Amino acid sequence: MPKFVFDFTEGNKDLKDLLGGKGANLAEMTNLGLPVPPGFTISTEACRHYLEHGTVPEGLAAEVDEHLAALEREMGKRLGQADDPLLVSVRSGARFSMPGMMETVLNIGLNDESVAGLATQSGSERFAWDSYRRLIQMFGKTVLDLDGDLFEDALEAAKEAKGTKDDADLEAADFRALVATFKDIVREHAGREFPGDPREQMDLAVKAVFDSWNAPRAILYRRQERIPTDLGTAVNICSMVFGNLGLDSGTGVAFTRDPASGQQGIYGDYLQNAQGEDVVAGIRNTVALTELERIDKASYDQLLQIMEKLENHYRDMCDIEFTIERGKLWMLQTRVGKRTAAAAFRIACQLLDQGLIDADEAARRVTGDQLAQLMFPRFDGDRTDGTTRLTKGMNASPGAAVGKVVFSSPRAVELAARGEDVILVRRETNPDDLSGMVAAQGVLTSRGGKTSHAAVVARGMGKVCVCGAEELEVDVKGRTFTAPGDVVVNEGDVISIDGSTGDVFLGEVPVKDSPVVRYFEGAATAGDGDELVTAVDRIMRHADARARMAVRANADNPEDAARARRFGAQGIGLCRTEHMFLGDRRQLVEKLILAENAEERQSALDALEPLQKADFEGIFEAMDGLPVTIRLIDPPLHEFLPDLTELSVKVALAGDGADPQDRRLLEAVHRLHEQNPMLGLRGVRLGLVIPGLFSMQVRAIAEAAAARRDAGGDPRPEIMIPLVGAVQELEAIREEARGILAQVAEATGVDVPALIGTMIELPRAALTAGQIAEAAEFFSFGTNDLTQTTWGFSRDDVEAAFFSRYLDLGIFGVSPFETLDREGVGRLVRIAAEEGRKTRPGLKLGICGEHGGDPDSVHFCHEVGLDYVSCSPFRVPVARLEAGRAAL
Ligand code: PEP
Ligand code: MG
Repeated sequence: MPKFVFDFTEGNKDLKDLLGGKGANLAEMTNLGLPVPPGFTISTEACRHYLEHGTVPEGLAAEVDEHLAALEREMGKRLGQADDPLLVSVRSGARFSMPGMMETVLNIGLNDESVAGLATQSGSERFAWDSYRRLIQMFGKTVLDLDGDLFEDALEAAKEAKGTKDDADLEAADFRALVATFKDIVREHAGREFPGDPREQMDLAVKAVFDSWNAPRAILYRRQERIPTDLGTAVNICSMVFGNLGLDSGTGVAFTRDPASGQQGIYGDYLQNAQGEDVVAGIRNTVALTELERIDKASYDQLLQIMEKLENHYRDMCDIEFTIERGKLWMLQTRVGKRTAAAAFRIACQLLDQGLIDADEAARRVTGDQLAQLMFPRFDGDRTDGTTRLTKGMNASPGAAVGKVVFSSPRAVELAARGEDVILVRRETNPDDLSGMVAAQGVLTSRGGKTSHAAVVARGMGKVCVCGAEELEVDVKGRTFTAPGDVVVNEGDVISIDGSTGDVFLGEVPVKDSPVVRYFEGAATAGDGDELVTAVDRIMRHADARARMAVRANADNPEDAARARRFGAQGIGLCRTEHMFLGDRRQLVEKLILAENAEERQSALDALEPLQKADFEGIFEAMDGLPVTIRLIDPPLHEFLPDLTELSVKVALAGDGADPQDRRLLEAVHRLHEQNPMLGLRGVRLGLVIPGLFSMQVRAIAEAAAARRDAGGDPRPEIMIPLVGAVQELEAIREEARGILAQVAEATGVDVPALIGTMIELPRAALTAGQIAEAAEFFSFGTNDLTQTTWGFSRDDVEAAFFSRYLDLGIFGVSPFETLDREGVGRLVRIAAEEGRKTRPGLKLGICGEHGGDPDSVHFCHEVGLDYVSCSPFRVPVARLEAGRAAL
């Protein structure tokens, strides 16, 4: 027979799965000898049984009987005993904290008889009747599902009749009358009497707590916090202590350090003569916890001792709830406290200095996501004057952005090209807005949630985004939006959006650089006295020392390469050469595509080659001495041609007078048009079909390397072939490339060795990796395409079309484009890594898809044995930290 009920003396802090966080920590404190009111916990297992079958498990009632009897013996009084009642609280407590999402009922055990006993024992008639009315009120609302306003209105009416606004002016007789009124409300609206039997009260309250696991707000909270839906909650039954027995009583909350800054000290609030719910309801203002020293020195001193003991025991910042009953301190809850990103780094280092944790543990206490948060620019909160707060939307992608309002992507691109900062404002975005999103400082939408296209894409790009600002009326055609109070904002007006809070301001709120970015840039150092920077520096050093994997960057120009290097990149994992074919050079690509014979083609390639060579020289210089993986051109060529529709319209409108060049272009666009370009003529296929294209690129790489060597540099090129599905494809290109490398070596007299390898971004490549490794000196997992091709998802289409629905349905907890799908895509990566290394033991393995900068995916890459991850320059510190943490 499984055991469902555990006395506080039976549990410990590591049993959170079974006892919930609150129950496990109450047990831990009990065993530490701290003053915890005695009680017991009904396990999450009992809740899961109840939720599944609709009834409590067999044997639960008997177990509760047993524990209740033991509790009654310990307290020397029975639940609801008429002359001296034991009263209990019934509280929820799940594995993960879900603040305020589930239910609690206090004062269980009061009825028409025991209220008199409580009056006698407490010496306060008023207190007893107030407690009784609170029970009926909470019970009615929580257990019987009645509208809370019914009770609130009756309470208000009682105060009004008395001519007061303050609960404190109500007397015993008033509360006694309220009890009668509340019972009438129950009878009328619940169709039953308020149960006088204490045990029935308790059993119903337990079920209500179980049920509250599936309250709509709890479901919503779990979805947002990615808490599994099937855990269930434990129920804690705890003997009541009262903070509302007079001025020598009270209740409070405290942190063992400042959760915002990490500073050590006394942080918390205290409310005299009150219960916990009064603090939440805000009926009176709390005082700072330090005031308690004046109010009740003995309790204050004891509390500080306990806080120190808890910190030393948990080896972490804790938060606590406590009550003082007539000068006696009771601990009602503790847990490792939530904190800001900055506090996490600071606290980890403080605890390290105190000798409570070691450096490995300090690195475990922070996350890459927290580091990323510290790197966003921020608004200078002290300088918002001259601005107006317009509204608040959802904080979809953190950071601070200021710019002129624009309502279309082309306009965003146009103004950005002139060097203006813009904020793209839309009702919602779609894949067509990508260019505008890239050009803008930030994105603001009036519709859609945190998984809307705008939110997902903005986070992916590290772009500031506020979404779902529903109070805004966006009129894209009229190029204006209206905020509450009829504030009209037109195109060109400056707004500021805060992606960390969701705030939207009219006007310019000054922005300041994050000190952590200045540190990574080398503009600030750990010696400057900023505690946060020092903490980041210490933890990063330790992570670097621990990491087995290297971190490289995806960069395709010398500036990005240099920044990546400052941020600690150990090379380039992906240089996308197609990015070098944009702008003015697009015309040269057009020439190449339109070439009608070998001569024309060669002349187009000859024009491109010196430009490519110069690009590579700059990158080799920025990454001198470090590997640079250059990927030969990947996308389908029509991406370099004008848009089919636009060009068709242009040619059609011009009729007979159409420019012959336009006609030729249109023909080429038609010829190259593909139904599904992602799966069409791209990658290695281009190299095999367009003569001379890859050779030109390889020659540019080899000549650039030779030139760098001549100039005294140490270039380390690696040539990467994209979208290979069969070893034969790679073999053909490899032969071509080797030939060119040999030619250049001979012509220049400088032989710079270059590895030749491939991307693994098609399932077939992964499944035949053993063969492909015969021809490849390295593999780099292109998990963007590998995710697309494994799932059969076209990323640009699916994210906007149905990903939010899939997330809602729980088909995946997070987009597989954000975090690597371990079971599917990950399985292919694992197979390819193993089989590739079986063929070629020293095979170098890396990843260059977006996942290379995602914390969970970095841990996966470590587990599979990759040599490096590669990500965008700005994510490099995050990947470094996670590569180190993965190795702990
Ligand atoms: C990939 O597919 O993961 C990759 C890095 O290539 P791209 O994103 O350029 O297709
Ligand atoms: Mg790819």
